[in-house]
Amino acid sequence: MTQPSTAGALYLSREIESAIRSAIDQAQTILCVSHISPDGDAIGSLLGMGWILRHLDKHPTLALADKPAADFDYIPGFGAIVGASGVGDDYDLIICLDASSQDRMGAVYRPAAHGQIPLLVIDHHVTNTNFGSLNWVEPGCAAVCQMLVYLADALGAPLTGDLAVALLTGLITDTLCFRTSNTNAHVLQAAMRLTDGGAQIQEIVARTLQSRTYAGLRLWGSILGHTALQERVIWATISLAQRKQVCARDGDGEGLAGFLVSVKEADIGATFTERVQNGGRVVVECSFRAKPGFDVSQVALVYGGGGHPPAAGCTLTGPLDAVAAQVVAALQEAHRVQVSDGKQAAFGNGAHG
Ligand code: 5GP
Ligand code: MN
Repeated sequence: MTQPSTAGALYLSREIESAIRSAIDQAQTILCVSHISPDGDAIGSLLGMGWILRHLDKHPTLALADKPAADFDYIPGFGAIVGASGVGDDYDLIICLDASSQDRMGAVYRPAAHGQIPLLVIDHHVTNTNFGSLNWVEPGCAAVCQMLVYLADALGAPLTGDLAVALLTGLITDTLCFRTSNTNAHVLQAAMRLTDGGAQIQEIVARTLQSRTYAGLRLWGSILGHTALQERVIWATISLAQRKQVCARDGDGEGLAGFLVSVKEADIGATFTERVQNGGRVVVECSFRAKPGFDVSQVALVYGGGGHPPAAGCTLTGPLDAVAAQVVAALQEAHRVQVSDGKQAAFGNGAHG
């Protein structure tokens, strides 16, 4: 068996560790939440936190505002995740995972009912607004699931079985299977602990990164002919009508911005997707990716979103083409500034989700 990682001490200070331990010890009823449009790290860290808390004899409620994709139903405990209607008003503690700001929790967090409850934020986004009453934010970690490896060690939860599968899922999806530039020895060491505990890399990859719907494939096909490339920024817009034409549903065709940025002539990739939110409001979801050394997180932040230097996003309202034109101009300006600052020369802190 691999020895426990020493990286825990690097990323989880004694002070935060004891504050988290006492917050959990004092709580009987705990609500765990993650972000809207949940990805592998959101779902893996939510379910992983659930298994850590159950090991401590707690009975957490696990909630997501948006229904998680059935692709992740191989993670034990998936069926117990509730939506906003399954969330009550009274909890002793709320734990928020992988969300950089309060609004990212969506409808599961109701400030009027929940605002006075202690809120523990566990996140790895550099743009995190420290919106909790206790914040453990570690941009040096590639995924919140990596942070939970260290928390599980500190709280004595074995990194085996259900917990290992949940945590390896977020590590694999946020690093695109250990390919992002923030994949360092600590990430690999954490992954090795989880594979030692029985989680299988190839099974998780097959269910997540290597899996797409036919509608998603056809959507990419219809969009790729209309991409634009100017000033090393490549982008595409995806309208409701284009999605309807190929019968694409939410989640179909995800990951296009990451594909666009692989183009040699580009440093930044962006997609602008029209979507109908719960409640019927039409918004434009903006998704940005940058090559190592470039930073798209600050443009996302300016537009009320967030993320990591190489992978960020924001959600705006307005006509699709107008939003795309305005945001592409901002990305091109950021690119010009970063080139003139010479920031792009070094490999940066890569991340995905
Ligand atoms: P994606 O492009 O995969 O949807 O998101 C990439 C990264 O940007 C993720 O870390 C995600 O949390 C962040 N992100 C995407 N959209 C938004 C948004 O509307 N608001 C915030 N705060 N972050 C976002
Ligand atoms: Mn993440």
